Amino acid sequence: MRSGAWSARTLSPVLLPRWFCDAGARPAGQRSGRFFSSDPPAALPAHARVIICGGGVVGTSVAYHLSRLGWREIVLLEQGRLGAGTTRFCAGIVSVAKPLSIESKMADYSNALYERLEEETGVKTGFVRTGSLCLAQNQDRFLSLKRLASRLKVLGVSCDVIKPRDVSQLHPLVNIHDLVGALHLPGDSVVSPPDVNHALAVAAAAHGVQIYEHTSVNQVLVKNGHVTAVETDRGSIECEYFVNCAGQWAYELGQSSEVKVSVPLHGCEHFYLLTKPLSEPTRADSPVVIDMDGRIYARSWNGGILSGGFEKNPKPIFTEGRNQLEIQNMQEDWDHFEPMLSALLRRMPGLEACEIQQLVNCPESFTPDMRCLMGETPGIYGYFVLAGMNSSGLSFAGGAGKYLAEWMTYGYPSANVWPLDIKRFGNLQSSRTFLRHRVMEVMRESQPLLLT
Ligand SMILES: Cc1cc2nc3c(=O)[nH]c(=O)nc-3n(C[C@H](O)[C@H](O)[C@H](O)COP(=O)(O)OP(=O)(O)OC[C@H]3O[C@@H](n4cnc5c(N)ncnc54)[C@H](O)[C@@H]3O)c2cc1C
Repeated sequence: MRSGAWSARTLSPVLLPRWFCDAGARPAGQRSGRFFSSDPPAALPAHARVIICGGGVVGTSVAYHLSRLGWREIVLLEQGRLGAGTTRFCAGIVSVAKPLSIESKMADYSNALYERLEEETGVKTGFVRTGSLCLAQNQDRFLSLKRLASRLKVLGVSCDVIKPRDVSQLHPLVNIHDLVGALHLPGDSVVSPPDVNHALAVAAAAHGVQIYEHTSVNQVLVKNGHVTAVETDRGSIECEYFVNCAGQWAYELGQSSEVKVSVPLHGCEHFYLLTKPLSEPTRADSPVVIDMDGRIYARSWNGGILSGGFEKNPKPIFTEGRNQLEIQNMQEDWDHFEPMLSALLRRMPGLEACEIQQLVNCPESFTPDMRCLMGETPGIYGYFVLAGMNSSGLSFAGGAGKYLAEWMTYGYPSANVWPLDIKRFGNLQSSRTFLRHRVMEVMRESQPLLLT
């Protein structure tokens, strides 16, 4: 690593929980050395083999996996601080309950990766193998869960179709009266997302990845259809490959390239609430509850509950101008959250008396078909994208980072990722109007928790 670049050694030994806190408001003595280093920013290198834009869980996973495959001269650029994008507010659930087998496979790999990261790096990641419970309120849902079980068994992922009374044994807070059955996924987990992000960065840096915070990519330069360099607010770097992992900014970054790149995603607000510890505190290893018919999920959090969901009328966000370098908790909107709160109280009536600590609201990017965007863009050789995570970015990051790194190394990945290939979309789908209408339509009819 070049001297002065971000280094795992600049970390304070104890990682403070950065979740849900306004890091800037924390007393100076409690700030992580990584985020608040007073060192002057290091000079950028003149040349890199690959530049990754975005220091969230997705960008750091790509950097980690490329370095593992033997790539050298990998540079990761982050406009703010590492993990200060959407990853900072992520609910921390890693689940294999996904509509496509390739998505379940990526999540299964992520579960295994996040479990071993702590040992590999010494960074605590908050990993707890809680398992999860996908609930069915009707026979149709139960059938789709049984189909998921068959798909998971083919992948070698363990799961059990269970009766409602087994659900109450696994999670006593769950009201089972309207349930016809459930799927238990014992391998699912919860983690602390910023700490996983951090551990991936530490592991990547240990393999020679150069990480520069407070460095914005302005545009990607292209010659004869090839990526040739990246212009930043701190100078230019020549490169052969570029990876756009800019999260909800990926669309604008694509548009600002010398030759426009279509990255069809649309930002929406996503809410969850945190309760104070319950009178009988929840156990850290209580299974995650995924109530697809109620459009909500819930996990144990600090002795209380974290619960979010997918409303039928999500609120759009526009990121034009990219003037916000780090994501802050946005405005609470209790009226908007009401259907999800009602669904939560129906599912866990014991929460009626609990105290609410906070309603968290953070942007997440959604795509026109609720599948992520992965691979080399048509038209520009060497310009890769991994973005548009549809609220499953933490679950996908490990596996998606691995497959994208293989794709860049060998020309194809070791698994069938073609349903996620960014080439399935054309320029038409990059119109803001199209994206807004289409994403709203898809979220109304469907939702990221649903299976097909
Ligand atoms: C409230 C909420 C709860 C969620 N819960 C879950 C969950 O439980 N499980 C799950 O799997 N997923 C969950 N998600 C989704 C998950 O958090 C995201 O999909 C994931 O964090 C996205 O990671 P990312 O690295 O793509 O984006 P980000 O974390 O946003 O990282 C992108 C980074 O790129 C940087 N960047 C952007 N533009 C530039 C530029 N021009 N130059 C340099 N840097 C740039 C940004 O500063 C940012 O740090 C949740 C999302 C939300 C909003």
